[in-house]
Amino acid sequence: MSDPTRPVGPKIIAIANQKGGVGKTTTSINLAAALAEEGLSILLVDLDPQGNASTGIGVEPTEREYTSYELLLEDVPLKEVIRKTETEGVFVVPATVDLSSADIELYSTEKRSFLLHDALRQPAMDDFGFDYILIDCPPSLNLLTVNAMVAAHSVLVPLQSEFFALEGLSQLMLTVREVRETANSALRIEGIVLTMYDARNNLSLQVEEDARDNLGDLVFQTVIPRNVRVSEAPSFAMPVTSYDGMSKGAQAYRALARELIKKNRKLAA
Ligand code: ADP
Ligand code: MG
Repeated sequence: MSDPTRPVGPKIIAIANQKGGVGKTTTSINLAAALAEEGLSILLVDLDPQGNASTGIGVEPTEREYTSYELLLEDVPLKEVIRKTETEGVFVVPATVDLSSADIELYSTEKRSFLLHDALRQPAMDDFGFDYILIDCPPSLNLLTVNAMVAAHSVLVPLQSEFFALEGLSQLMLTVREVRETANSALRIEGIVLTMYDARNNLSLQVEEDARDNLGDLVFQTVIPRNVRVSEAPSFAMPVTSYDGMSKGAQAYRALARELIKKNRKLAA
């Protein structure tokens, strides 16, 4: 029986932080894989011209004929843009360096902030039956990231457990507020997840304490440890859950997936 409180269509989450190297792409890939292990169907949208999420989930640059560039700026049908991956239950819209010009091209487009929103809400999307769409954002608060926030129901923020981690957060929150006021009043913060956490390092403990004191329930209980298996997995074009399913990193991303699912069930109840 269908649940009338469940949002119609997939839950769309933008994974964003304007800082580079904080774990956006790593979290996009591994959260997608861990959610899929729970039996859910996931679309990973690579919105970073670097295309690291595409590579990490196993789509070679030569296999990226249609990408998020075409999804945003050309009317290529969804069926051509969405690809199956080797990870059961995970589909991807890949990206290439072409997307780096999109930010500028978007400025000359009417409805420039709504292109991803509209693309992900095409009727053909229903045929895929996705449960979640995760958008891997570029390390900037540019129009691509704004497109992700306008398209999304919520923003998930990876926060690297190191000095200055909380500094960029106010700017990110300002952008979220602007998007709420202008284009997407329902946009929520899904949560903040501490990444590359090292429990032996005082700095990690300090960042965690600061984050929990200042941001309370917004911070996921699950933290993602610094784990060499997590950093090795992309060079084997696999999520860590496939590369080394028993590793601390894989277990942490599974815990994060379950925490996310639970949070969303509670909200729907
Ligand atoms: P972003 O997408 O925010 O730029 P990435 O996800 O690409 O960041 O991560 C930056 C670097 O840190 C990558 O080399 C990645 O392999 C590494 N990394 C990310 N998370 C972890 C982790 N939990 N343990 C070890 N290395 C990590
Ligand atoms: Mg990235």
